[in-house]
Amino acid sequence: MFKTPSNKVLPRQGDPRKFAQHGVCLEGVIPVAELPRVVEATESSDGEIQVKLEFTISEERKKVVIGNASADLTLVCQRCLEPVTVPVESSISLAIVWDEEAAKALPERFDPWIASEGIADLYDMVEEELLLSLPAVAYHEEPCLDSKLYSSGKPVEVKKEKNPFQVLEQLKSSPKS
Ligand SMILES: [Zn+2]
Repeated sequence: MFKTPSNKVLPRQGDPRKFAQHGVCLEGVIPVAELPRVVEATESSDGEIQVKLEFTISEERKKVVIGNASADLTLVCQRCLEPVTVPVESSISLAIVWDEEAAKALPERFDPWIASEGIADLYDMVEEELLLSLPAVAYHEEPCLDSKLYSSGKPVEVKKEKNPFQVLEQLKSSPKS
């Protein structure tokens, strides 16, 4: 199948201020395993995070990055304590600032991204945003019993004990000769 550009791995590093000046748009994926704090906060390091970042200059002449990050992350169901996969979507609206002081002066619709001059770690920024969007608690949508049987999270544990009636059936059907 034809691969869309969004399957490319997002570059880890970049100069956000230069990106904003040049109107750079980045689209790609970050393997979940590359974000240690997300791995720590969830139950699985499998999968990828879809990321779209548009660096631009806002109408207030601020250097900003607008975009989103989304992923299916595995959390623990608070009802049955089994893994449950939940879609996590984070919308990103950050203004790139030098320090806390500048952060305080931002228009309300922007959160600050405090970055020193030059190259910044884009994964770190995305990780921070994603962590803020993690639900505090997660539950299976379907009744938990069903999810246990059908979810792809873990191999299903089938009870191996023999049904006494089955044993009886076997005895009955065994050849008498
Ligand atoms: Zn559950």
